[in-house]
Amino acid sequence: MDPKSSDESKHTEAALVLFSGGQDSATCLAWALERFARVETLGFDYGQRHAIELKCRADLLAGMKSLRPDWAVKLGESHTLEIPTLLEISDTALTRDVAIVMGADGLPNTFVPGRNLVFLTFAAALAYRRDISHIIGGMCETDYSGYPDCRDETIKALQAALSLGMDRRFELHTPLMWLDKASTWKLADQLGGAGLVDLIREHSHTCYLGERGARHDWGYGCGECPACALRAKGWGEYAAGRAPV
Ligand code: ZN
Repeated sequence: MDPKSSDESKHTEAALVLFSGGQDSATCLAWALERFARVETLGFDYGQRHAIELKCRADLLAGMKSLRPDWAVKLGESHTLEIPTLLEISDTALTRDVAIVMGADGLPNTFVPGRNLVFLTFAAALAYRRDISHIIGGMCETDYSGYPDCRDETIKALQAALSLGMDRRFELHTPLMWLDKASTWKLADQLGGAGLVDLIREHSHTCYLGERGARHDWGYGCGECPACALRAKGWGEYAAGRAPV
């Protein structure tokens, strides 16, 4: 989907954004706030070791409200759903204290099988109860770690399954699907200017290890895990192309 396309018919409707407190979901939230009349957010607690995400979500929400008064009036409830079962069935570096390595299947062991399928199914169930038909997620198959549940084809199939299974027409929006990380920074700039870029840089969290000790140009993180490496590379490319101030 073209992230720059605007659809006037959406401007009276509500949306639910999957919001982890990371760079991608913060950009998706701004994208939704530009398009929908009311925007609610949903985060998941499944025992991942960086509970820091919860604080980042709160800081980002507060920052966006003060950055843009028109966004503040659109921001609705912030939901959190606990899914501890995901912890029981996963054995990965995200949820256990083990090193991040690449598996024989080419996927890092941070992969929780089907995690996005679970997230989007819970999101749709919540959206159903909230009378919301638009769900926004930061899934991306451009600069990604190869997770099959981030693929556009997976999301399209799930949209059909959820709409059939709940007898409600859901639209799953993935504005970052075809963007690399540099373009995601650029999109944040287009949506909210330097204020939003700085907010995301300072308060969003991406590091797999949950580190926020060191402050880099691109924000906080260990600087070495796959998520930090992607974020740093994207920032470098975006910053190099930005007009000097
Ligand atoms: Zn890291």
